[in-house]
Amino acid sequence: MPEARPSLLGQSPEEIEALCLKLGAEKYRATQIVSAAYKQRSKTFDDIPALPKQLRNSLAQSHSLRLCRMAEVIRSADETRRFLIALPDDECVESVLIPDGGRLTLCLSTQVGCAMGCRFCASAQIGFKRNLNAGEMIEEIFLASELATSELGDSAELTNVVFMGTGEPLANYDQLSRALTAINAKWGLGIGARRITVSTIGLPAAMIRFAREFPQINIAVSLHAPDDATRNQIVPANIKTGIKAVLTAAKQCYETAHREVTIEYVLLEGVNSSRVDARKLASALRGLRVNVNLIPFNEAPALPFAAPPPAVISAFREELERRGLNVHIRRSRGSDIGAACGQLRLARSGQTTRDSGTESS
Ligand code: SF4
Repeated sequence: MPEARPSLLGQSPEEIEALCLKLGAEKYRATQIVSAAYKQRSKTFDDIPALPKQLRNSLAQSHSLRLCRMAEVIRSADETRRFLIALPDDECVESVLIPDGGRLTLCLSTQVGCAMGCRFCASAQIGFKRNLNAGEMIEEIFLASELATSELGDSAELTNVVFMGTGEPLANYDQLSRALTAINAKWGLGIGARRITVSTIGLPAAMIRFAREFPQINIAVSLHAPDDATRNQIVPANIKTGIKAVLTAAKQCYETAHREVTIEYVLLEGVNSSRVDARKLASALRGLRVNVNLIPFNEAPALPFAAPPPAVISAFREELERRGLNVHIRRSRGSDIGAACGQLRLARSGQTTRDSGTESS
């Protein structure tokens, strides 16, 4: 398969200006290109009639605007839509669109597969294939917006973007950074920073860099365990890092960005969900400015985990709240279509024996 021409999506206006100059065109053409790419959502350079034909031809020889396509959509009874996006090299990633009251949230992926190996996650079963580039992440948003408009009506607009799909976003920092800049910028998609969340398994150095470079964007840390012994079992990446370093980085994120960090915690029956676990978690989080999201495991027969019964979940929550923590229980959305990260892609690849999972990084 011939290699795809690089996308202009994710390139800064300055980089596009430099490209225009290199191609013998005026610098101001970059503004027309950026506006066509993000506001009019042009798919090819021929869709930008304001550009001279010669420039359109030169751009088309060296670059692309849109390279990805919607390959499959699965609709849940609760209106969640899970979809598979085909990338130019025939790999694919999945995203999830979640309508909820007045909100329309897109959960997007940053890598094909994931190297972190979390035991409860379908994406880990795929293994790491490659990083997505910024253009591919932005196209996930474009394709989701088009799907929302066609199925929910012209007024359906994405309100929130969460980087919680397949992959560890901070392990793909440079492309993530380019995508976030374009998603947030006025010249780009103009989605407010506070409506964007990046979720990480906890890469301390990258977390601190992220808080410095994107202080307004929310960061969520997928902790999933109150101590190293438990976390090492379900989040193998922890063996190298350790909870202490992750929580120290979370503290530094708060001190740098002055924004509360969210702690994500998947509740697994008999693994991390007892009252003792809750007390240990509260103790580990003492002194940190955090919100805790509890996520009952999205069960599937092929993975050796189950969600705790409701009474256990309530007891866990009470223990945390009694110790002054702000706790939410996240409703499982799209569970009838296996909307946890990696499930659709895994099923498509034929590896159905371990077709399940819950939350990504
Ligand atoms: S939970 Fe997130 S970090 Fe862990 S394997 Fe899945 S995608 Fe990767």
